[in-house]
Amino acid sequence: MVATLFIDGRWRQASDGVVHDVHSPHDQHVVAQVSQATQADVLDAIGAARASFDSGVFTSWSFKERSDLVLKIAELLERDADVIARKESDDTGKRFIEAQYDVADVIATFRHFGGLGAKVHERSVDVGLSHVNSRIVYESLGVASLIGPWNYPLLQIAWKVAPALVAGCSFIVKPSELTPQSAIALIKAIEEAGTPKGVANLILGPGSVVGTSLIGDPRIDMVSFTGGLTTGQTIMKAAVADVKRLALELGGKNPHIIFADADLDSAIDNAVTAAFLHSGQVCSAGTRLIVERSIHDRVVKEIVRRAGKITLGGPDDELAESGPLISQSHLMNVSLYVDKAVAEGATLLTGGKRSDKAEHEKGWYYLPTVLDNCRSAMECVQEESFGPVMTVELFDTEAEAIAIGNDTVFGLSGGVWSSDEKKAARVASALRHGTIWVNDFGPYRPAAEWGGYKKSGIGRELGEHGLGEYLEIKHIWTNNAPSRSGWFRDQ
Ligand code: NDP
Repeated sequence: MVATLFIDGRWRQASDGVVHDVHSPHDQHVVAQVSQATQADVLDAIGAARASFDSGVFTSWSFKERSDLVLKIAELLERDADVIARKESDDTGKRFIEAQYDVADVIATFRHFGGLGAKVHERSVDVGLSHVNSRIVYESLGVASLIGPWNYPLLQIAWKVAPALVAGCSFIVKPSELTPQSAIALIKAIEEAGTPKGVANLILGPGSVVGTSLIGDPRIDMVSFTGGLTTGQTIMKAAVADVKRLALELGGKNPHIIFADADLDSAIDNAVTAAFLHSGQVCSAGTRLIVERSIHDRVVKEIVRRAGKITLGGPDDELAESGPLISQSHLMNVSLYVDKAVAEGATLLTGGKRSDKAEHEKGWYYLPTVLDNCRSAMECVQEESFGPVMTVELFDTEAEAIAIGNDTVFGLSGGVWSSDEKKAARVASALRHGTIWVNDFGPYRPAAEWGGYKKSGIGRELGEHGLGEYLEIKHIWTNNAPSRSGWFRDQ
């Protein structure tokens, strides 16, 4: 029996018993079987979350008590870290060691929010009246749907679940159907830590089927979603009727600007990592290389050389540096994207096709690809490929670099390389993106906010704001010397 839905404190099968096979992107073997929720299961999960929230079973806990719970979950995740990393690498096809880094980041996320929750205190407001006590208090937002993507399945869910728990929300987690295993492991840790029944619920199944109710049901107060722009727009429309709170982490098309005065060895090495890590399936991937004209040949030649030498391989290939794409349909999308780019006038310098190595035959391996002679107006520069594809654009002046870097509907992240501190600071300030790295690309910390400008999303995860997304703010005005208002004549 496959019972991997968690509803109202109980593991259960789908109500129609349907089971979904999860396939390895590395070689297509079945890595797991999970229950596929029906509409009735989704409604049960929403009902359980709503009932637990309305009962006060969790909101009656103090922030400190809920923070301690979150810290306990971190300990349990640490205990099971390698088992969870194995599931994550099975589902995503990423190397086991990379999945281990991800799980370490998940644990750090739980510790961050566990530490933050203990610091939430009410605030007094001086209203200038000695007989009035005016307080700002922070309360749980309510019931949340937490929907995550397949590229960093557990980490993206953790950024939502940890603050939701600290805030005292009840919730339904829905990971991508392609990568459900680590979410199951997380919910087991949440259960073991002693979370009240009905607070945490897990629904598995394709978003197009189970997603509608998770967004549109009036019993849901908030949707926190990480995924693609189109799905985000669908969610926004569905949330309008009830004016639900939304937290959206959508895509990115992230500029990576290299000035001629940069430490080029470091810049080139980071440019390769930024574009090709996890085969480019990273929302903050530095896929738009914007390079000063005078150093174009040197930089691009070296990047092409390095890209051609990247070793691709599966979860247990110790020599592998990057892995497969998540699915056949994603591989076809990336391939189509590159074909269209070439038809649009981009010059293909390396890659541009599926790996033809015998050991990759059953997997979704696409070669690291560099497209030169790109311009901002091209579709390949504007749209995410979410694959290992770098586009190259040129600039002559600082103003031009900024303009090109901002010429995108997205605004998630960007990088700038220069040895001129003032110039780098000017460019960092002018770029309209949520995270900017100067002489670096990629690092983040749970204590620092993460999120996008423009079509990259709404709200912020991590940092302090990441907790605020799950809180309501209430002003309580207490008059300790009641008197008549005296506004209207009492005739
Ligand atoms: P999708 O938008 O396709 O899916 C994301 C999640 O939403 C999945 O769980 C999916 O379920 C679910 N979903 C799909 N359709 C619906 C629907 N109609 N209603 C409710 N839920 C739905 O994105 P991907 O999984 O393909 O992830 C890739 C995208 O995510 C990229 O565009 C990337 O930029 C973005 N992303 C952004 C990040 C950020 O921090 N800003 C981080 C990571 C990714 P299922 O898969 O089961 O169908």
